[in-house]
Amino acid sequence: MIAGMTSATARPIRAIFDSAALRHNHAVARHHAGSARLWSVVKANAYGHGLERTVAALADVADGFALIELEAAMVLREAGLRHPILMLEGCYSAEELPSFAEYHLTPVFHRLAQVDEFCALALPVRLPVYLKLNTGMNRLGLDAAELAAALDKLAYSSSADSITLMTHFADADGERGVAWQMARFDAMCAGRSLPRSLANSAALIRFPEACGDWARPGIMLYGSTPFADRSAEDLGLRPVMTLESELIAVRDLAAGEHVGYGCIFTAERPMRIGVVAGGYADGYPRHASTGTPILVDGQRTRTLGRVSMDKMCVDLTELPDAGVGDTVTLWGNGLSVDEVAAAAGTIGYELLCALADRVPIIEAE
Ligand SMILES: *Cc1c(COP(=O)(O)O)cnc(C)c1O
Repeated sequence: MIAGMTSATARPIRAIFDSAALRHNHAVARHHAGSARLWSVVKANAYGHGLERTVAALADVADGFALIELEAAMVLREAGLRHPILMLEGCYSAEELPSFAEYHLTPVFHRLAQVDEFCALALPVRLPVYLKLNTGMNRLGLDAAELAAALDKLAYSSSADSITLMTHFADADGERGVAWQMARFDAMCAGRSLPRSLANSAALIRFPEACGDWARPGIMLYGSTPFADRSAEDLGLRPVMTLESELIAVRDLAAGEHVGYGCIFTAERPMRIGVVAGGYADGYPRHASTGTPILVDGQRTRTLGRVSMDKMCVDLTELPDAGVGDTVTLWGNGLSVDEVAAAAGTIGYELLCALADRVPIIEAE
């Protein structure tokens, strides 16, 4: 470490993590879920928020955690987590199954061959098993005949404990809704009274009757909306991550001057602009065009020109008091990540997950 530096990095960009907001959003999910239990989805490093910090903040309210990455699940167990852990993509090869047993992880099987491999092993413990059914998403899942075969095989397995049936909705946030997939799911499960896990955030909010026994909220926990036409605020959700930086330079521009790479923004009149220490190498979307909302000292303004790797420019013409060192909010409190995402032609999920490693995450005070 360079003499004089504190443990915080010198560069002003930082992500502030608000554990109270996370717990609030979990309570909102709980409210929608009624008596269903909740898998808190923490894949992709808890949607960019930091896995261990997120799990720690939810540990005393969560029923279980769901993720994709085996290494991450092992880290949670090594840290002493006792909650059920659901592995949403199951295992990628049978060689992982002993680790599933050792770390007591719940696999999701979506291909019959995985069930065969599981049944061929005599694991030292019985594991709960999820069977994922394809009801129209057409990515992963068993069809009706495969489900029947899987249940037959598992009935004779010494490694299987409880069995839960699961599916994933393709358009819970859209026009098609979930009824068509529910009908297929019900037809496939007919006569089998096994527990069910169905809803992601969008379905949990919009079709709470379609939760099943275990809902799987992800994005809503982080305070971002799963819907294009309903804001997180409308849904009573609070942003968990606030991405902040500072102005590191301020300058006046004469009419006709340009801003940034490609000179794609041209001042039509004299302007005052600020330079923010934050760019696409921090996870800010390069596709955010001129006019993307951004806050300087809590006041809303707009970005100007192209976002570069480490810097971006903002309009200070209407903010005469703004100066070097002022706090800039790229997204979070006061400016939803969903608004920034929309300006960049994407969704909040992508921006949150893409937060770069070089951005320190610190706890809100
Ligand atoms: C990611 C994921 C979820 C969570 O989805 P959100 O839209 O973030 O709520 C639920 N189920 C499965 C299978 C997933 O992969």
